[in-house]
Amino acid sequence: MATTGRTKSAFIRVHPRPPFTGDFIVITKADAVVIGAGAFGASVAYHLARRGKQVVLLDAHEAVTQTSPRAAGLTQQIRSDPLMTQLAMQSVHQITQLTAESGEPLTCHQNGSIKVALTESFAAQIQDEVQRGQAQGLEIALVSQQEAQRLAPFLQPERALAIWYTASDLYLEPGDLPRAYIRAAQKLGVTVLSHTPATAVGTRAGQVETVVTPQGAIETPAVIDTAGAWTRVVGVMAGINVPLVPTRHQLYITEPLPGIQVEQPIVRVLDYNVYVRPEQGGLMVGGYEPDPLQLDGQTLATTFDIKDLALDMAPLRRLTELVATEFPQLPNAPIKLLRGGLPTMTPDGRHIVDQVPGVGGFFVASGCCVGGLSISPAVGAVLADWVVEGAPTLDLSPLRLERFGPAMQSEERLREACLWRYAHHYSSEEQ
Ligand SMILES: Cc1cc2nc3c(=O)[nH]c(=O)nc-3n(C[C@H](O)[C@H](O)[C@H](O)COP(=O)(O)OP(=O)(O)OC[C@H]3O[C@@H](n4cnc5c(N)ncnc54)[C@H](O)[C@@H]3O)c2cc1C
Repeated sequence: MATTGRTKSAFIRVHPRPPFTGDFIVITKADAVVIGAGAFGASVAYHLARRGKQVVLLDAHEAVTQTSPRAAGLTQQIRSDPLMTQLAMQSVHQITQLTAESGEPLTCHQNGSIKVALTESFAAQIQDEVQRGQAQGLEIALVSQQEAQRLAPFLQPERALAIWYTASDLYLEPGDLPRAYIRAAQKLGVTVLSHTPATAVGTRAGQVETVVTPQGAIETPAVIDTAGAWTRVVGVMAGINVPLVPTRHQLYITEPLPGIQVEQPIVRVLDYNVYVRPEQGGLMVGGYEPDPLQLDGQTLATTFDIKDLALDMAPLRRLTELVATEFPQLPNAPIKLLRGGLPTMTPDGRHIVDQVPGVGGFFVASGCCVGGLSISPAVGAVLADWVVEGAPTLDLSPLRLERFGPAMQSEERLREACLWRYAHHYSSEEQ
């Protein structure tokens, strides 16, 4: 619920750095408060600090423990429209430069990615993606079955009608990226408060004024809602509705398998919405089932922890059967780990990155659509520019909050649209 007027003055006390030294810093003011220390929040906080801002980064749980560290850690730079592709390409560049820029170690495997189409209509999409990617300067090209198998020996591409390869796509251990951003942000003076939920957002005359936590209130002119599956709950604190649906997404990792090497690329099978990459000598396998579990993002308790999300191997088994020809090692591979989280789907599969109309200083970076980890570097940078400059330095209108119109006020229609988009994740087809 939105609170208005000045909140009673209070202190937030933080240990300056572990281990506890006996001193306290008292935080009552910040240039910006970022709510949610996952991939988006960590990147936004870091980029704001690089622009000289005093930032507080809050998390209801321990930082980087919810959906972000459970991701597959893949990038795919060719996206559904020029803006998303631009942001994804910029993000890969930022990931590869992060260590040089910040001094923080970050291991990534820039082994490229392969996308396979098994049917005519998806083969047309492969060709379209190659053309669109090349037009934006992306190194993406059609490759033969033989070349695809040379690059990814675990792939049997006999059924493929078209295949592309993008050499600069990469994968990484997902939690490493936001953790690197947080360490770099702390070096720049950002205060990270784990186990500190935002409980209210105070506004005055249509402008954010405070963020309230159980430990006290922080006065601030800028609030960024990067609360992942809880984005809507935080949005309601400022009186806004963010149309997205937390949707369970899962992957599994096999025990080590013959021939799997860390240097091999990511492989995606377009027709079946399945991705596979090397992990710990085995294969990581994820995919998009037609009927995913959706949660109510308006009522998700702040105390809910993603580690308690019920997981289900059955949808992944079904997807594995569909691609058994392409990945013959998978059907009999022993499973080492099943993991999943709650990415947020939007009705059109694009992110929400916006300053909320009518609530000055309240920004949202969410609606990750299962691609938020890999696009978080660029989103953090452009949002920081926006907060600092007062206007975005890039035309972000395709990602604005109000693009969905009144139709998505209906929860039922919102869930239907988000479900359809999830189930057709790799497809360029529109609903
Ligand atoms: C199995 C799986 C595979 C995936 N694979 C990929 C991939 O290959 N590539 C890719 O780019 N993406 C992938 N994703 C998606 C990716 O994980 C998400 O896009 C990304 O993690 C979203 O980050 P976030 O910051 O929005 O959410 P989170 O990491 O969940 O962070 C949100 C944070 O907000 C905090 N919070 C909530 N409410 C409050 C509050 N009131 N006050 C303070 N803090 C609060 C939470 O505690 C949480 O830490 C995958 C996801 C899954 C589950």
